[in-house]
Amino acid sequence: MNLIFMGPPGAGKGTQARQIADKYGIPQLSTGDMLRAAVKAGTEVGRKAKAAMESGGLVTDDIVVGIIADRISDADCKKGFILDGFPRTVAQARALDSMLMERKLKIDHVIDITCDTEALVARITGRSTCAGCGEGYHKEHKKPKKAGVCDKCGGTLTTRADDNEETVRNRLSVYDQQTAPVIDHYRHKGAFKTVDGMQEMDTVFKNLCAIIG
Ligand code: AMP
Repeated sequence: MNLIFMGPPGAGKGTQARQIADKYGIPQLSTGDMLRAAVKAGTEVGRKAKAAMESGGLVTDDIVVGIIADRISDADCKKGFILDGFPRTVAQARALDSMLMERKLKIDHVIDITCDTEALVARITGRSTCAGCGEGYHKEHKKPKKAGVCDKCGGTLTTRADDNEETVRNRLSVYDQQTAPVIDHYRHKGAFKTVDGMQEMDTVFKNLCAIIG
C-alpha cells in the first residue's frame, strides 16, 4: 500500500500518517522529519537545507528527491509507505512518477487533508511535540498533564523553530504557490481523495481508514 498525504502545514498530515503507519504496518516517510534530523546531525544535506527551512521556504527539489529515492529503496518500504510532506512541487511529483515507474510501483491513494487558513495558524503556533515518542500537544486543545512533559513517555516537549507566526504565514503562502498545483497533477490521474481536516482527529482517522480500506 503506497500512500501520499497532502495538505497545508498544520492540517494534521503528520499526526494522521503516524497513526495510519501503526495501523497498516508501513513506514511514514516525512521529508520534514528527515531534513530536521539532517540539520541536527550537521550533515551536508542538513547544511544545505537549514536556511530554507528556517525561513519557511522549500528545500531544493534535488535534495528532497534524492532523500526519497534512497528511502523508498529501504527494506521496510517493501510492504508500502506513506509519503508525508512530499511531493511539494510539480517537479517533485514528476520525479516521483519516474522513480515509481522504474521500480514498477504505483501510488494507491493520494489523500488531501484540507483545513481553513486561520485554523492552521492557530494550530501550528500552539503545538509542541515530544522529542522522545513524537506525540503531539497543543497549548489550548491538548495540554500535557505536566507542563513541558509528555504524558505518554515522560519525554521533553519541544517546539519547532519554524512554528512561529511569521514563518507559518510564509509556509502557507509557499504552499498555495508551489504545492497546491501538485493537487491538480494527481486529480487528473485518479485515486485522489479529499478529507476534511477541520473535523475531530478521530473522525479524520476513520475517514482515512475508510478510503485506504
Ligand atoms: P514539514 O515538517 O513537512 O512542515 O517540513 C518542514 C520544512 O522542511 C518545510 O517548511 C521545508 O522547508 C522543508 N521541506 C519538507 N519537505 C519538503 C519538500 N518535499 N520539498 C521542499 N522542502 C521540504
